Amino acid sequence: MDLLSLNQEELGDALEEIGEPRYRAGQLASWVYERRVSSFDAMSNLPKALREKLAGQFSLRPLTTARESGSKDTTRKFLFQLADSQLIETVLIPASPALYGERADRRTICISSQVGCAYGCKFCASGIDGWKRNLTAGEIVAQFLSIEEISGEKINNIVFMGMGEPFANYENLLKAISIINAPWGIGLGSRHITVSTSGLVPRIRDFADQPLQLRLAISLHGATDEVRGQIMPVNRKYPLAELIDACAYYTSKKKQHLTFEYILIKDVNDTEEQARALARHARDLQAKVNLIPYNTVEDLDWERPEQPVQENFLKILKSRGVSATLRREKGHDIAAACGQLRLQAERKKSVAPVAGVE
Ligand code: SAH
Ligand code: SF4
Repeated sequence: MDLLSLNQEELGDALEEIGEPRYRAGQLASWVYERRVSSFDAMSNLPKALREKLAGQFSLRPLTTARESGSKDTTRKFLFQLADSQLIETVLIPASPALYGERADRRTICISSQVGCAYGCKFCASGIDGWKRNLTAGEIVAQFLSIEEISGEKINNIVFMGMGEPFANYENLLKAISIINAPWGIGLGSRHITVSTSGLVPRIRDFADQPLQLRLAISLHGATDEVRGQIMPVNRKYPLAELIDACAYYTSKKKQHLTFEYILIKDVNDTEEQARALARHARDLQAKVNLIPYNTVEDLDWERPEQPVQENFLKILKSRGVSATLRREKGHDIAAACGQLRLQAERKKSVAPVAGVE
């Protein structure tokens, strides 16, 4: 059983089932989340026989590192292998600019929520090979623990902008977040956790109704149905008017502004008309806009617009009173990094098995 998928109540139940007292749940949480041990053997205040028994029942790390790229001061990508050999990606962004949290010196990780993605946005590496499965809550929590363990860095910000659509794995997502947020768990404040969605309207409303003050980012990428519909198939199911309505509901319910993510793709969504339409949506909702120059994806032939076009797009937003940023540095292309390492590995795997496992 995957221990990282369990809250204290459930861990207590699981312990009782194997004839152990419930209070051991608190002891285990302290070892796992406070002292961060990754094996039962290290739990020195537990009798040896009990440690062995627990090791036979529970696993503490549902993933192993398959590959790593990047260096200490830049964005580092980690490819993890799950128990069923599927691959996911997690990205560590050191001291990144204040894109999602409020402070500039935060170390952010970009977490995956599914293996692959069913939504098939035309610009995205994660959806190219379709959807494989949802991650368990434990596989989500483990990304955080493993990255801190490997990097030796303390992470103070999480964005769900890795592979997959978090709102299509809503239950496990919220379970993982509750463990990450819990005082007995990782203890990360809810305001340091951002979930990004391609626009699953009913889930945006559910998210507004749940009690935690989490942050929300919307992958907009098109400011009219015509343009958005061309690049994001989800727009057919939930057109812009419905999406914007759900965003307004979220903003009013949470008394919190959300962020629009907008990838700039040459000759697709980078016109002045789109900039003006985007400015209207953002102003109505007082949403912040993050412009992201498109990152090249193997197998796709889109391009990013020239720099002056990007700057002009930004200027139009700003001149209309919208709070907007343009990511200029390559190393800070947070989410763009996600999905791409896995895609490369999957491609190689079809030639030689277990590519890059070190
Ligand atoms: N499924 C969710 C969460 C994944 S985030 C969502 O779509 O919001 C995926 C994000 O990765 C997108 O919003 C986009 O910001 C980024 N992204 C994907 N492909 C990209 C690319 N080729 N270039 C730049 N950013 C990209
Ligand atoms: Fe899936 Fe998000 Fe990529 Fe779209 S952008 S394919 S929803 S991961």
